[in-house]
Amino acid sequence: MVLTDKCGRPLLNLRIAVTQRCNLRCDYCHKEGEELGQCSRGKAEEMTVDEITRIARIAISLGIDRIKLTGGEPLMRKDLCEIVTGIAAIPNLRELSLTTNGNLLGFQARELRQCGLKRVNISLPTLDAEVYHKLTGGRIEDALDGVKAAVAAGFYPVKLNMVVLKGVNGDAVPEMMDFARETGTILQLIELDPVNVDDAYFSVYHELLDANEEMLRQKAVSLENRPFMHNRHVYHLPDVTVEVVHPTENSEFCQHCTRLRVTSDGKLKPCLMRNDNLVDLLTPMRQGASDEELRALFIRVNERREPYNKNQ
Ligand code: SAM
Repeated sequence: MVLTDKCGRPLLNLRIAVTQRCNLRCDYCHKEGEELGQCSRGKAEEMTVDEITRIARIAISLGIDRIKLTGGEPLMRKDLCEIVTGIAAIPNLRELSLTTNGNLLGFQARELRQCGLKRVNISLPTLDAEVYHKLTGGRIEDALDGVKAAVAAGFYPVKLNMVVLKGVNGDAVPEMMDFARETGTILQLIELDPVNVDDAYFSVYHELLDANEEMLRQKAVSLENRPFMHNRHVYHLPDVTVEVVHPTENSEFCQHCTRLRVTSDGKLKPCLMRNDNLVDLLTPMRQGASDEELRALFIRVNERREPYNKNQ
C-alpha cells in the first residue's frame, strides 16, 4: 500500500528532524522550514527514541520506504545510534540516511554505520577555511574529518551538499567537483531556498544553477532524472557524479515531491514551504493514541499535500 495525494503524488519519503539543536549557525539555513520561534537552543520539545521509532514504523506500514534523519544537527543527540538501530530494524524499509554538517562525524561515523545507517549527506558549502568559518561558525577541518570518516566507515554513497551562494562559493564548483572525485563522494549542488532566510539575504545570495547545469551537460557522459526525488538531474561525468537540486519556484520540483516531514516537536509537515497545514502527532501519541489513530493522522496530512509551486 502506498498513499497518494489528490494530485497523484505517491508518499514515499519521510524526513524526521530529531532535534532543533545545532553546533553550527549557517547563515543560509532553512531549518527544515520549522518556525523560528521554536528554535531557541535546548528549549524546544524533542521526541524520544521510542516515539521516533514508532512514527517510522507507522510511516513504513503506510508504504513509506525511505527515511532521512535531519535537524538541527542530528549528531547533537547522544541517543542517535539508538534511533538508527530502532528504525533500521523495521521490515520493509529500503533506505535510512542522515543529513549532517559532519563536524561530529569523525567521532561517530563508525558506530552509526554499525547501528545500521547506510548513507549520509554532509553539508559542505566550501573547502575554504575562512569562508567556511564565516558561513557556518565551524572549522573546515572538522567537516573534512567527517567526510573522511564517513567514507572510511563504508557509507555509500556519501553526498556532499553544497548550497550555492552568489559571490560566496558560486565559483568553487570545479574545486568541489575535484574534491568529490578525490574522496569518491557525490557532489550535490543545491539552489538556495528562501525558507527561513530573510528577503534581503535571499536577493543578495540566491544564484540560479543554470550555468553550472550547462557546464555539467557538456561534460556528462550520461544524464539521469530521479522522478521520485523531485525529478532532480543527475550528471554522470567520467570520474564524478553531480546532482542538481533546484527547488525555488520550480513546479517540476513540486510535481515530483514524494516527501513528508516530521518536525522536531512531532508535527507532520506536508511541505517545506508552509506551516499552516501541520498535523500534530506527538500530542495524541502522548495521550495514548493507538497505531490505527496515528495512521489516520498520516492519512489526514497526506490529504493536505499539494504542490507549492503549481504549473507555471
Ligand atoms: N545540520 C544538518 C546538515 O547540515 O545537514 C541537517 C539540517 S540542514 C537544514 C539539512 C540540509 O538542508 C543540508 O543539506 C543543507 O545544506 C540544506 N539547506 C539548509 N538551508 C538551505 C537553504 N536555505 N536552501 C537549500 N538547502 C538548504
